[in-house]
Amino acid sequence: MEWSTIIMIAAVFAFFVLAIIWQRSKGKRGEKQVAALLALLPKKNYKVINDLLIQSGGHSTQIDHVVLSIYGIFVIETKYYQGWIYGGENSEYWTQNIYGNKYQLRNPLWQNQGHVKTIARMIGDERNVPIYNIVAFSRRATIKVDRSLPVMYWWNVVPYIKRHKEVHLTDDQANEIYNTLLSANVTDRAARKQHVTSVKHNQARRNTAVANGKCPRCGGNLVLRNGRYGRFYGCSNYPNCKYILK
Ligand SMILES: [Zn+2]
Repeated sequence: MEWSTIIMIAAVFAFFVLAIIWQRSKGKRGEKQVAALLALLPKKNYKVINDLLIQSGGHSTQIDHVVLSIYGIFVIETKYYQGWIYGGENSEYWTQNIYGNKYQLRNPLWQNQGHVKTIARMIGDERNVPIYNIVAFSRRATIKVDRSLPVMYWWNVVPYIKRHKEVHLTDDQANEIYNTLLSANVTDRAARKQHVTSVKHNQARRNTAVANGKCPRCGGNLVLRNGRYGRFYGCSNYPNCKYILK
């Protein structure tokens, strides 16, 4: 083989390796940028926990950011999608449109509502502390979602939090909740790795089910259906199960 061919192959290989690393680091990078923005909140009134990992009832939940204050609790899910993002408060799936190619994503408000519920359970539901569900997209995305929903760009998160001025907690209560969450946060590296492994494991389990033509959610059969955006595979147990193959 010619040297030039070898160099060419090595360059192409290196390019793909870098592309994969770049792709993988995106999510984390998004979280870091939002963390940097949240650090601008006055420390005296707001406490921030980034990348909170909570284990409860055999499940682990990863929450991008939580802001604690006397004005309530703000739970933030950061997204690093590109394209136009469409979706409604009550639809299970949202649409990502990249130059006419449509993809589905699970309603991120619902996803984050799960995080809100986890926190409510941890601090005791009876407290009636407002817990705000916030979904934040990077500027790579164009948000086409109803303006009344708490779906916003990263740089609007801090102004949004600051707009909530009604006091619901004393300083002591807010600190107590902060300490509760902080002490529940799994910081052990091995346990954190375990979370990533189990997420991957669940993904592998879902992939196997789909490869066998089964619904990964309920075990029903995947059937071809006609929808607004063309044909898709859905669960035979619809409407009881709303699973759609992405
Ligand atoms: Zn199903």
